[in-house]
This record gives sequence, structure tokens and C-alpha cells, in this order.
Amino acid sequence: MTTLTRDEKQSKLAQIARSVASCEVCSELCKAATNPVPGEGDPEAKIMFVGEAPGAQEDQQGRPFVGASGKFLAEMLDSIGLSRDDVFITNIVKYRPPANRDPSREEIRDCLPYLLEQIAVIDPKLIVFLGRHAMNVFLPELKISACHGQAVKQSYTHAGVRREQVFLPLYHPAAALYNGSMRATLLEDFASIPKVLESISKES
Ligand code: URA
Repeated sequence: MTTLTRDEKQSKLAQIARSVASCEVCSELCKAATNPVPGEGDPEAKIMFVGEAPGAQEDQQGRPFVGASGKFLAEMLDSIGLSRDDVFITNIVKYRPPANRDPSREEIRDCLPYLLEQIAVIDPKLIVFLGRHAMNVFLPELKISACHGQAVKQSYTHAGVRREQVFLPLYHPAAALYNGSMRATLLEDFASIPKVLESISKES
């Protein structure tokens, strides 16, 4: 794999964002949405966070995780000494599904190439799934209740390039907002991120 400079990564991510903005494949989503939400953050991020789909606030601002879940995500990042600017945050589906319904199988399939391209450009060491819906797109056989907080290495091929990728499934921040025990679990799982990253760096 050729190594891209920061500027090259930035410009490729901007190109992907433009492609998302002009995408009309899922016409129901594009028509109902206010803004596309392609994702944002450090083009050289070691960690990428992937949620399910934008909600109302994200749709209004065109930015991922800026509502209540996003506030909690920012708190959790702070708890491990990071900020939003240090990571890349995005979703499987880049437009808000009307009334926050679950994205359909077809919408996930049609939007996935944008995420795969973002991953190829950023080349993160670790992809953290926020919630089972995001996790199940890459790891369909896993149950979040059994595997949250445990890193999984899996290979896949995109555009003819094979990637060995480490994934860390976590509960979705929204699920933990009003549930004290899940909040504690999520914080505990989140706290493992620096160690997971360290062990990946040692391997490579
Ligand atoms: N939930 C998600 O999965 N993604 C967002 O961007 C916001 C809330």
C-alpha cells in the first residue's frame, strides 16, 4: 500500500465527502435529509469511530455525533486523553434515515463503499464500532452483549487490496445515556482503547 501524505489524505477525504454530497442512490434518504454527514476528524487518525447513521442534530449540522450521544462520546474521549480532533468519526450510513428509522439493508450496502474508501485513505490502526448495527456490517456473526470491549482482528478485501484490520465493538453511547450500568460498562470498555492501540503498534 502506498503511504499518503496528510495533505493527500485530506484531499481524498474531501473528494469522498463531495461524492457523498452528490450521491442520490438512496433517494428517500437524500430527499428527506437536510445535510449529508460524511464524517470528520484527523485524516491521519489512528482510531476511527463508526456509528450507525446520523440523527436529527447531525442532520442539521452535517456533522457526526453532535447530539446527546456525541456529548457522551466527547466525554469518553476526554477520559482517555483524546479529543474529537484526534480521531475520525463517521457512520455506516451518511444521511439521516427519516424519523430515525433503522437504515435498510440496501441503504447500508449502497453507502458502505464510502466508508470503505474512508478507511482505505485514513488507514487507521483501530476501528471502534459504536453499537451493534455498525458492528454487524463487518462482523455479522457477533453479539454485542458477548463481545463488547474485546478487540477482533479480521481481514477483508476492498478495491483489490487486502486489509488486516483490528475492530473494537462497543455499546452505542445512546444506549448508555439513561442506563447507569451500561454507562459504566461503556466507560470501562472505552478505557481499554489505549492498551488495545499499544498492542497493535507493538505487533506492526
Ligand atoms: N448516532 C449515530 O449512530 N451516529 C450519529 O452520528 C449520531 C447518533
